Amino acid sequence: MNDISTVLAGGEIKKPGFVQLVFVDINGVPKGMEIPIERYDEAVEDGISFDGSSIPGFQGIEDSDLMFKVDPETYTEVPWEGIARVYGHVYQNGKPYRADPRGVLRDALEELEKEGFKAYIGPEPEFYLFKKNGTWELQLPDGGGYFDLITLDRAREVRREIALYMQYLGLKPEVLHHEVGNAQHEINFRYDEALRTADNIVSFKYTVKAVAEMRGLYATFMPKPLYGFPGNGMHLHISLWKDGKNAFIGEDGLSETALHFMAGILKHAKALTALTNPTVNSYKRLVPGYEAPVYISWGYRNRSSLIRVPAFRGNGARIEYRCPDPGANPYLAFAAVLLAGLDGIKRRLEPGDYVETNVYEMKEEERERLGIDTLPGSLSEALDALRKDKVVRKSLGGAYGNFMKYKEAEWDAYTEYLESKGLPEDTKKVTEWELERYFHL
Ligand code: GLU
Ligand code: MG
Ligand code: MG
Repeated sequence: MNDISTVLAGGEIKKPGFVQLVFVDINGVPKGMEIPIERYDEAVEDGISFDGSSIPGFQGIEDSDLMFKVDPETYTEVPWEGIARVYGHVYQNGKPYRADPRGVLRDALEELEKEGFKAYIGPEPEFYLFKKNGTWELQLPDGGGYFDLITLDRAREVRREIALYMQYLGLKPEVLHHEVGNAQHEINFRYDEALRTADNIVSFKYTVKAVAEMRGLYATFMPKPLYGFPGNGMHLHISLWKDGKNAFIGEDGLSETALHFMAGILKHAKALTALTNPTVNSYKRLVPGYEAPVYISWGYRNRSSLIRVPAFRGNGARIEYRCPDPGANPYLAFAAVLLAGLDGIKRRLEPGDYVETNVYEMKEEERERLGIDTLPGSLSEALDALRKDKVVRKSLGGAYGNFMKYKEAEWDAYTEYLESKGLPEDTKKVTEWELERYFHL
């Protein structure tokens, strides 16, 4: 372990003695092993075998011998821990393992490549910092609000420290700011190719939690930690590139390709929520009044839209998908969203008219007249939509069955809890069950 101040001051730091080999489970939670650095070359050459029987969403004990293959380009040092880490793919019997989320995204990106596209994604993850007091009475550490800079935002130093550490992991923080909720923060980092961005999200969450811990705080990415406060979103800024050029640039705004891509996402929006918002708690965020989407519409300035087109032209041309939350497994969510968009391109779907009025405030008849549909209201509704959507199901490849089984059990456990407490199934309150299950996600 290196002293933090040495690391921050750029002083001489210890070389890593161990390498962490990282993959993620079905929830997007990092899992892995550590090997002494002397074994690293051997690991790159031959892979490292492990027993995957107890990894959430992986398989049962009957067939659990898995192999980790290093993706050497992702090697970085984590100087404050004195270790290095590297991401990789999971294999079984010499072939990619079907339920490895990182492999699912790799396959989806190959589909895009067949059509000549490369996907770039920039995320806007939000999180809360809570004081540790050993109970679920969450103690907010500051009284700050959106964009507050000075006295009210007591966490600004922690935020800067996170950004400095991110740079060690090769992430490029771009904007740090206080969010709307007290003690809610956002750190955006530079967009990159989809697979790299998904890795970066995993590294980011790990870093935020580690720094918070060092400062005696708890960071949570759970989508809605507090009823009555804004939720944590993870908006995704997406563009597709072809022949080295941004394929979303049109003569006057967005290109046809961008509009078809957006139409594909809108068409599959209900099933996509199962991946972009995969927890029971996610649906406590998707309620009117907190800048989180509820209806399936698109627009330019309107922050109640599911998809917003930011006012950037040229290489900044992109769409902002506002549904995803940081509880999502980024690999599975990206695979599903990108292939839904690709379906729109292949079938030349049209997104319909854009909506510039606040959709939350529209009367139901008005929404019906405009053909604006509603996102699923619960994880169970989202799973139903996924079952019916061939394109989104297919985007998960061999992980579909594992995902469904895992999520159905999650929903059952939640409804059992509600029953035991005599709570209604459609409650929008955040329950203790959710805090226990998702706070550390
Ligand atoms: N916290 C909001 C959400 O849940 C987003 C606020 C913003 O526009 O950045 O999506
Ligand atoms: Mg935000
Ligand atoms: Mg945003």
